[in-house]
Amino acid sequence: GIGRPGVSTAALLLTAASGGGLVAYADSAAESAPEPSQDAPKKKVLVLGTGWAGTSFLKNLDCSRYEVKVISPRNYFAFTPLLPSVTCGTVEPRSIIEPIRRMFEKKSKDVTFCEAECFKIDAIVALGATVNTFNTPGVLEHCHFLKEVEDAQKIRMSVIDCFEKASLPNISEEEKRKALHFVVIGGGPTGVEFAAELHDFLVEDLVKLYPAIQELVKITIIQSGDHILNMFDKRIAAFAEQKFQRDGIEVATGFRVVRVSDDSISMKSKSVGGEVSVPYGMAVWSAGIGTRPVIMDFMQQIGQTNRRALATNEWLRVRECEGVYAIGDCATVSQRKIMDDISMVFKMADKDNSGTLTLKEINDVLEDICIRYPQVDLYMKSMHMLDIADLIKGAIGDSHKESMVADIEEFKKALSHVDSQVKSAPATAQVAAQQGYYLAECFNKMEKCKEHPEGPLRMTGESGRHFFRPFRYKHLGQFAPLGGEQAAAELPGDWVSMGHSTQWLWYSVYASKQVSWRTRMLVVSDWTRRFIFGRDSSRI
Ligand code: FAD
Repeated sequence: GIGRPGVSTAALLLTAASGGGLVAYADSAAESAPEPSQDAPKKKVLVLGTGWAGTSFLKNLDCSRYEVKVISPRNYFAFTPLLPSVTCGTVEPRSIIEPIRRMFEKKSKDVTFCEAECFKIDAIVALGATVNTFNTPGVLEHCHFLKEVEDAQKIRMSVIDCFEKASLPNISEEEKRKALHFVVIGGGPTGVEFAAELHDFLVEDLVKLYPAIQELVKITIIQSGDHILNMFDKRIAAFAEQKFQRDGIEVATGFRVVRVSDDSISMKSKSVGGEVSVPYGMAVWSAGIGTRPVIMDFMQQIGQTNRRALATNEWLRVRECEGVYAIGDCATVSQRKIMDDISMVFKMADKDNSGTLTLKEINDVLEDICIRYPQVDLYMKSMHMLDIADLIKGAIGDSHKESMVADIEEFKKALSHVDSQVKSAPATAQVAAQQGYYLAECFNKMEKCKEHPEGPLRMTGESGRHFFRPFRYKHLGQFAPLGGEQAAAELPGDWVSMGHSTQWLWYSVYASKQVSWRTRMLVVSDWTRRFIFGRDSSRI
C-alpha cells in the first residue's frame, strides 16, 4: 500500500496512472484552504505516475505550498505521441524521454521522487490503465503492445528479426512470406500510425537493404469496425483508406480477432461469419486500453464495479470517495446534461415556486450557467440577455410563445452542441495534460477560492457555491500521420486538413510540444538524420 488518508498533515494528493492514466488522492481537507500560518505543517501531496497527467499537474502546482512526493515505477516522462516513430528507428527512444528529476530540478526543494510501484490502494488511496486484450486467447503471449518505450524498442528489434529470419538460406518462400507478414490489430490512431511508420521504413530503407525479399512483405490492419480511424472525421478515414490501398497496406475491416497462436491469427467476419486464419511473422495489438489491476481493485473497494475507468465528478474527484482525485486515462469525468442543469438552476432560483423570476434572478441564473458551461457564454454574449432569458425559459418548457419556437429550437441546438462537446473527452494526452493543469490551478488557489468561491451553485449536498469552476475539456484537434510525408488533421471548428502540408504542421506541433529544449533538439536532429541517412536497421 502506499499512503493512508487522514495522516496528520492536512492534505494529501496522490496521483497514479498506468498505461495512460492517473489518479489523485487528497484527504477531505484538500478541499479546504491550507492553514495560512507559517508554522503550520505543509499539506502532503502524493502524486502517483509520471505520465502526461502527473507531470502536467506537477509542472503547474505551486509546490512551495505543499510537501510533494512523486511515486512512479519509471523515473522519466515519455512523449507517447512519438512512440510509433521509435518502433522503426525514425526517432531514438532517448529523444522522447525526459528524466523526472531533471524536469523538476528547480522544484527539488519541495518535490521528492521515489522510483516504486503502488501495488495496493489502501482503503481510500488510488491507481490507473493498461492494454485491453478483451480476453482474446493468445494475445498476451504472442502479440506486441505499444504503450511504453520498452514496447516500442521490442517492436523495433522484432521487425529487424523478421527481415533477418526471412533472409536466411534454406527457408521456403512460404516461410519467408509468413515471417514478413506484419499484422496490426486495431485501426485506431496508434495502429494506423504504426502501420504507416512500418511502411515508410520498408519503402525508404529496407527495400535497399533486403532487395531479395522486398516483394514478399505484407502489412495488414485488422479492424473490427467498418472503417479505420473511425473516431476522426469521415473524410480523414476515407483519405487514409485510399492512401493505404495505394501503398499496398491491406485494411481488413469488419473482422474481429478471436485467437492468436504462435504462427497464425484467427478472426471472424462480422457480416459473413465463419473463421479465417492468417499466418504472421509479427503482430501488434493496439485495440484499446483497459484498467490496471490495482485500479480495478480500488474500484471494487469503493463500489465502482463494471467500469473501464474511475468515475469522477466535474471537479475530478473520484465519486463515492471523499478526497481522491483521478486524472488522465484511468478516469472518466461523469457528464451532466446542460439542459438538466439549466432546469435545475431555474428551479433553485424560483424559490417560491411561482414560476416568475425577476430580471436579477434571471441574470444570476444566466451567470451561473456561464460558469458551468463557458461555451454557452460565447453564445449568450452574441444575444440580448432578455431574449436569452425568454429562450431559456422556452427551452425548458415554461414559454408558450409560438413565435419563438424556431429560436428556441436553435438555442436547444446550440446547447446540445455544447453537450456533445462536453461529452467528448477521450483518453488522450491532451485531456490528461489539461486535467493536470486544472487540478494544479485548483490546489494553487484553494485559499482564495474558499473565501471567494468562483464555482456554480451546488445542486446537491450542502448549499452555497462550489469553490472552483468545473473542469471543461477544450479540444484542440488531433493528428493522424499516414506515412509518405503525409498526415491528416482534425482541427477546432470542424476544419480538416490532409496531405503533405499537414505533415509539416505535424512536425512543427510535435516539436513545439516537447517538454524540454533537450528533447526538442534530439527529436529534430533524429528527424534530420533520418532524412539524410535513413533509419538504422541494426539489431542491437
Ligand atoms: P501515462 O502517460 O501512461 O502515465 C502513466 C504513469 O503512471 C507512468 O508514469 C507510469 O509509470 C505510472 N504508473 C503506472 N502504474 C503505476 C503504479 N502502480 N504506481 C505508480 N505509478 C504507476 N494522445 C494524444 O493526445 N495524442 C497522440 O498523438 C497520442 N499518441 C499516442 C501514441 C501511443 C503509441 C500511445 C500509447 C498513446 C498515445 N496517446 C496520444 C495517448 C496518451 O499517451 C495518453 O492518453 C496519456 O499518456 C495519458 O496520460 P496519463 O498520465 O493518464 O498516463
